[in-house]
Amino acid sequence: MSEEVREDLGNCCACLGTQNVNNIMCMPFEGPPGFQGWGCMICGIPTRGAIAVLCDTCVELGAVPRYIVGGRFVSSTMRVTLDGFERKAFDHIEARHAEYDRIELIEDALSDLDAEDFPFH
Ligand SMILES: [Zn+2]
Ligand SMILES: [Zn+2]
Repeated sequence: MSEEVREDLGNCCACLGTQNVNNIMCMPFEGPPGFQGWGCMICGIPTRGAIAVLCDTCVELGAVPRYIVGGRFVSSTMRVTLDGFERKAFDHIEARHAEYDRIELIEDALSDLDAEDFPFH
């Protein structure tokens, strides 16, 4: 018998259930001090974003998280209530994404050019 190895994400941040907690939600504000949350390599924001984990049922119902993950990592089973939690805005820096997209577009255009540079089949 082999057991499926998966990270236990602890209680759902909406219903506090423990079944099928498989979904990680990136919240648009900072996590608790010291928490290693979500970040973005494209716009270079640090891994400070708050994270809520949700069970499949809550995702289906569109439930709003009442807690976020505390402790240090996502796998921490500690929960922090959002009641009175001071939300410091944390989100992608759109200008840097726009810049990145433009570079991608130029690269795509260049690779298309390369293909058409060879008229022989
Ligand atoms: Zn739930
Ligand atoms: Zn970003």
